[in-house]
Amino acid sequence: MLNIVLFGPPGAGKGTQSVHLVKSYGLVHLSTGDIFRSNIKGNTELGKMAQSYMDKGQLVPDDVTIRMLESEVDQHREAKGFIFDGFPRTTAQAEALDAFLDNRNTPVACMLALEVDEAELKSRLLARAETSGRPDDANPVVIQKRIDVYNAETAPVAGHYAAQGKFTGIDGIGAVEEISDRLKAAIAL
Ligand code: AMP
Repeated sequence: MLNIVLFGPPGAGKGTQSVHLVKSYGLVHLSTGDIFRSNIKGNTELGKMAQSYMDKGQLVPDDVTIRMLESEVDQHREAKGFIFDGFPRTTAQAEALDAFLDNRNTPVACMLALEVDEAELKSRLLARAETSGRPDDANPVVIQKRIDVYNAETAPVAGHYAAQGKFTGIDGIGAVEEISDRLKAAIAL
């Protein structure tokens, strides 16, 4: 199994790069943001609850998010591995993921962190809003909140994996293919 945590602030390119990594390594892509959005579309109770947080740029509570992610992992018992995109976003989520995967003897192999400066993130998110239809990409106040939440609650998760010797920073600026080559080079190490 190859389990990769693809990390980085909103707009860093995690979703885009996940598509490339899925193609190259045959992994299952789990994006908690995508799963929440599909629940919102399906008008589920989970979706309704998550939306109230997402619309404000806040994190959905850990207990709900962790339970949802674990259930998704358990639905892919045949997987060669996973790309975790947008999860874990808090230290509590990282600890829960480690314990859950240790139980299944398939730990996180590495965290690859896409590094992009704040000005570039904001311009990418506003550009993405034109096609994504995501309300949280279209509103500069919500974008700022998401970046602030990332800095306060999510950035420390890098330290969690650095302490395990699993952290690699990747320059997230450049052509999509170039960045994808950087990620593959880091995975090959
Ligand atoms: P994303 O698609 O990763 O940009 O996530 C969109 C929104 O979904 C975030 O701003 C959060 O409100 C929510 N979300 C996604 N993943 C998580 C997570 N791991 N923990 C809490 N909230 C999350």
